[in-house]
Amino acid sequence: MLWFTGLSASGKSTLATAVEKRLFHEGYFSYVLDGDNIRHGLNGDLGFSPDDRTENIRRIGEVSKLFAEAGALVLTAFISPYREDRDGIREIMARGNDFVEVFVSCPVEVCEARDPKGLYAKARAGELANFTGIDAPYEAPVAPEIVIETNVYDVNACVDQVLEYLREHGYVSSESRVHAVSG
Ligand code: ADP
Repeated sequence: MLWFTGLSASGKSTLATAVEKRLFHEGYFSYVLDGDNIRHGLNGDLGFSPDDRTENIRRIGEVSKLFAEAGALVLTAFISPYREDRDGIREIMARGNDFVEVFVSCPVEVCEARDPKGLYAKARAGELANFTGIDAPYEAPVAPEIVIETNVYDVNACVDQVLEYLREHGYVSSESRVHAVSG
């Protein structure tokens, strides 16, 4: 389970999707869980209060565990702002080392400048309450397996760093070499 955590617009979905694409091309069964397929469906009843955020992450952890048990490399792309909630997922994985926490690190100023969905603008205008990084907290991981600095490296370099970790730790074969995938 590759658990991407970070601020909105830090690059979680972009990286999870790009890593999945690489894995797919190497023949691995992988699947991305993100806001599009979870927040609108399974967790459509949840909002952004602290309790709802915790429940959101708990359910995502359970669903991810099912995917992992089915043999998938599962990638999740959620802010998951609370350390305790992420540690809870680590615990529900049968072996702790099947949980790979990927801290997608990027200063809030850079995230706000990117603002691909206009969410920071809405939060600043008072149209979105409890927005992580603006008026809700983000608790950065203390000892994540991987730290990716998306304000320093471009998307391809970030993807390389994740794949490198997976190879080094035997999650994917070290035999197959990664080539840039076009299209
Ligand atoms: P999140 O899922 O964390 O909310 P998104 O992936 O939706 O973030 O958006 C991140 C934005 O930042 C995208 O517009 C992406 O193109 C841009 N970006 C710039 N550099 C990077 C990088 N190195 N890694 C990931 N995204 C990046």
